[in-house]
Amino acid sequence: MRPLRICLAASELAPFAKTGGLADVVAGLGRFLARAGHDVRVFVPFYKRIADSGVATVPLPGGEDVDVRFPTRSIRFSLRTLAEADAGTAPRPQICFVDCPELYGRDGLYTDDGDESLRFAMLCRAVLESCQRLGQAPDVLHCNDWHTALIPLYLKTTYHWDRLFASTRTLLSIHNIGYQGGFPESQLDTIGLGEQRAFLHHGDLRDGRFSFLKTGVLHANKLSTVSVTYAREIRTAEFGMGMEELLENRKDDLVGIVNGVDYGDWDPANDPLIPHHYTADAPAGKAKMKAALLARMDLPHDPRAPTFGVVSRLTSQKGFELFADSIPVFLQREDMRLCVLGSGESRHEEYFQWLRDTWPNKVGVYRGFHDELAHWIEAGSDLFLMPSRFEPCGLNQMYSLRYGTPPIVRRTGGLADTVEPWDPAKRTGTGFLFDEFSSQALAGTIDWALRNWRDQKGWKQLVDNGMRRDFSWDKQGLEYVALYRSLTGL
Ligand code: ADP
Repeated sequence: MRPLRICLAASELAPFAKTGGLADVVAGLGRFLARAGHDVRVFVPFYKRIADSGVATVPLPGGEDVDVRFPTRSIRFSLRTLAEADAGTAPRPQICFVDCPELYGRDGLYTDDGDESLRFAMLCRAVLESCQRLGQAPDVLHCNDWHTALIPLYLKTTYHWDRLFASTRTLLSIHNIGYQGGFPESQLDTIGLGEQRAFLHHGDLRDGRFSFLKTGVLHANKLSTVSVTYAREIRTAEFGMGMEELLENRKDDLVGIVNGVDYGDWDPANDPLIPHHYTADAPAGKAKMKAALLARMDLPHDPRAPTFGVVSRLTSQKGFELFADSIPVFLQREDMRLCVLGSGESRHEEYFQWLRDTWPNKVGVYRGFHDELAHWIEAGSDLFLMPSRFEPCGLNQMYSLRYGTPPIVRRTGGLADTVEPWDPAKRTGTGFLFDEFSSQALAGTIDWALRNWRDQKGWKQLVDNGMRRDFSWDKQGLEYVALYRSLTGL
């Protein structure tokens, strides 16, 4: 079988532009595919923060000064790629940064600006224009989330004439159905889809809106999402966020593939961001990481006091409102520590700050985004908290398994697929799960976890079970390759 030509298009790519798991997944999948011998290009905007980061980039030959024609005006972009020194020697995807300062030279990846739809319509168009300019269409154009979900429709309409794309197939991966890219339909003209209303979701148009993600779901050749359970869930009214019917209609084209973990970045055996290393066979470094983390968070160290970790975007998806009626009881009663890293909605940030102010010897909080601290919390905590309301896949619970930090999670989406309940009698399982989205259910599970913590022999087994689980891209990536091949017949 011949290697495939694959274009990954996304709004995030680790380590250059990241707000959440999407960035890690695109980077990890891209690297896996390149290692496996496929020809991979990854398209991502050249955001201001990448330009400012000092990462060495150079113009990508052939990708200079491309004009993209929209109905009212043209917008110019150029492609940049990593300079050789940064690209390394192992087979890697070719990173294609879409350099368009007018649209991407702003603070933050996402904005509330009036031209947000144009920013990402441009990304979709830039991917296709680049293929034309470079004279090379991929076998599979793998779109990710709403930001790149117009590609299948543009291919069917604006680029339909171009035989270059005759055998290109599209896959749309939904990483989080909570973000759909909905805009007033008056913006359709600006992004060049004013004449294509017949191809859009009619109900939305009647309401004066259109959605990038729905358009992608209507027109991509195949659909995937990031766990098997979530693929089922999003076809229900509880999780589908208004898209359940569309997805039910396309259920034969929708598959769930659990995200892989890039153990090159996330393994305590060789994680460059932590000072003490350890493995399942030689776990001693974990106790050192706990001491180091507590010192860093300015908390008193006691090896017997269980340390809970949180690393998260602080949005309603993540379920932290369950803390209000559960965590204070434990902080009052138990000699425990809680280390929180997160940013997002101010109500959550302020709540964690209140916990910190109320129990300054037990709670440490860092508000913001801090990659290194995320690794420290994974490594230095004894338990990881993820009470998500919904969770398409979730990476942190898989990271915490590898870092010997059993997760406490709600049984939803990818959490249900990747964490197995600890059974102290059989000594099987990797973490603690609860079903009902309630403070009582969370509190009961924390209680249960703490009872198990006191049996240190059993705990060692629980930790060991989790550390030996393998969610590497070498396994998960093969499922994508199989999907690409089924899509193309190659
Ligand atoms: P989501 O994609 O919904 O945010 P995931 O668990 O799939 O959730 O991925 C979250 C990723 O973002 C992980 O790599 C996690 O370490 C990282 N992350 C989340 N919040 C922060 C933060 N405040 N600082 C550093 N990394 C963070």
